[in-house]
Amino acid sequence: MIKKIISCLILLSVLFIAGCTKKDEEDKDLLSVIKKRGELVVGVKFDSKPFGFIENGKLQGYDIDIAHLLAKRIFGNEKLVRFVEVNASNRITKLNSGEVDMLIATMTINPKRMEVVDFSYPYFYTGQAIMIRKGTDIKTVGDLNGRRVIVVLGTTGEKNIRYFAPDVVLTGYRTYQEGFEAFLQRRAQAMTSDDTILAGFVMDHPEFKILPQRYSQDAYAIAFRKEPQSASLKTEVNLALDELRRKGHLNYLKSRWMPAASDNFKESMGKR
Ligand code: GLU
Repeated sequence: MIKKIISCLILLSVLFIAGCTKKDEEDKDLLSVIKKRGELVVGVKFDSKPFGFIENGKLQGYDIDIAHLLAKRIFGNEKLVRFVEVNASNRITKLNSGEVDMLIATMTINPKRMEVVDFSYPYFYTGQAIMIRKGTDIKTVGDLNGRRVIVVLGTTGEKNIRYFAPDVVLTGYRTYQEGFEAFLQRRAQAMTSDDTILAGFVMDHPEFKILPQRYSQDAYAIAFRKEPQSASLKTEVNLALDELRRKGHLNYLKSRWMPAASDNFKESMGKR
C-alpha cells in the first residue's frame, strides 16, 4: 500500500514539474506572451513616406499595413497593434531593450546588423539613390565630391555614400523630416537614401528628381531580438510573409503605396 502511495506521489510530482516547465516556457516565449497580452507592439517609422508616415493625423503606409496584416493573422483582428515611433539611430536599441516586439521600419538586412538582430525573410527590395533639384548639374555620384549632401544618421545610405564619393561633405540628421526640411531650405545640393523613401518626397515635390542610377541593392526585412524567445514569433512572421507574397498581397501593397498614377514618381523610379 505504502509503495503504491509513494509511486502516486512521485508520478504527481513529475506531472507537476512537467506542467510548470511548460508554463515557464510559454511565459518566456514571445509569441505566447503577445497572444496573452492581446496586442502586438511594433516599431515603425513616422517620417518615411510611403512606408510609415503621418498624413491628416493618421499613421499609414506599407510597413503599417504589414503590421495590421500580422495582427490579423495572430489575433484575427488587424486593429490589435500598438505602434511605437523609431528612427534609424534608435530602432535597434528600442528593439533590444524590449520596448517593441519587432521592427517593421524600412530596415535593410546587412551583415553588421545581423550580428545584433534576427531578420525575417525580405519583404521589399530597394536601392540607394540620389535626389537633386531639377536643373542642378549633378549627373552621377562622382559629382557629389566636394558638395554638401544630406543623409540620415545610422542608415546604410550614410555609410555607402562615403565609399562612392569619398570627398563628399555630409550633413547628417536624425530623421527624414529634419533632413528633408534642410534640403527644402537649400542647405545641401543633394540628399541620398533608399529610392523608395526619396520617391516619397518626389511624389509631393515635382521640383525635385531622383537620378537614374542605383548604388546598392537592399532588401527590407522585419527585425527581431536575437534570442530563443523570439524564434516562434519569427517563424510565424515568415509564414505570414510567405502567404502574403503567394496570395499577391505584397504586390497589392506596392501598387497601393507606390502608385503609378504619380507621373513624377514613375519618372523617378523608372521601370521595376
Ligand atoms: N534602408 C536603409 C537602412 O536600413 C535606410 C532607410 C532607413 O532609414 O531605415 O538603413
